Amino acid sequence: MRIDVFTIFPSLVDGFCGEGLLGKSRSSGLLDLRTHDPRDVTADVHRTVDDAPFGGGAGMVMKAQPLFDAVEAAQPPRPLYLLGPGGRRFDQAMAHELAQDAAGTGGFSLLCGRYEGVDHRVREHLVDGELSIGDVVLNGGEVAACLVIEAVVRLLPGAMGNVSSPVNESFGASGLLEEPHYTRPATFRGWEVPAVLRGGDHAKIERWRRAQALHRTLRDRPDLIEVRGGLGETDLRLLEEFPSVAYP
Ligand code: SAH
Repeated sequence: MRIDVFTIFPSLVDGFCGEGLLGKSRSSGLLDLRTHDPRDVTADVHRTVDDAPFGGGAGMVMKAQPLFDAVEAAQPPRPLYLLGPGGRRFDQAMAHELAQDAAGTGGFSLLCGRYEGVDHRVREHLVDGELSIGDVVLNGGEVAACLVIEAVVRLLPGAMGNVSSPVNESFGASGLLEEPHYTRPATFRGWEVPAVLRGGDHAKIERWRRAQALHRTLRDRPDLIEVRGGLGETDLRLLEEFPSVAYP
């Protein structure tokens, strides 16, 4: 998958995407990540990418010319998404969508704003859509771009060591939040790992895990249970069989 990122801080994106599983995906060739700095295509000695807003007001606006020039020079894979707080909310469903679509199109691209944002003509005539990572305002699109890249690339076949992870994890095929995990030691500061996980009865462990995923989802994200059409008989019995672990 090829992902092109347009940013005036390419080292932020390169650094983040060079570590961990993302870094491995890059060195194995699964991910072809290319960053482009719009400053590199500016014609003036100051490498100007921003200017004052027409009509006055606070802050600076990213100029259209360097962004158009950078995109036209790179010929990035489409769709090209602008990152911005007003865009379509990025979530796990959209991560799956991007991962699947890229199998056909070869990839997608991201454009990071800075300052007060970009000249509106970029939104109108250069990009294919706008993505938001949530109702929060950042200084720039780079953290948002890294979030999108990480969420999408980990869904590609071969990007994760454990194939079953994307099924059972939160927002996965089960539609539930994930159950709690424990590792050694069995007793830490007097707090015990639930006995069932140490008992070796694998069918019971599976039932316990499902019960805990249900308890947690009911407690923290009842909307996800509603989307699934409520609880079935089997689920209700599991909830009775295994009480919830404690949460803060
Ligand atoms: N003045 C704008 C905010 C600009 S923030 C407003 O009030 O809406 C500067 C840049 O950060 C944006 O151009 C965008 O690329 C990025 N950004 C900020 N918040 C974001 C979010 N929630 N999702 C994605 N990108 C965001």
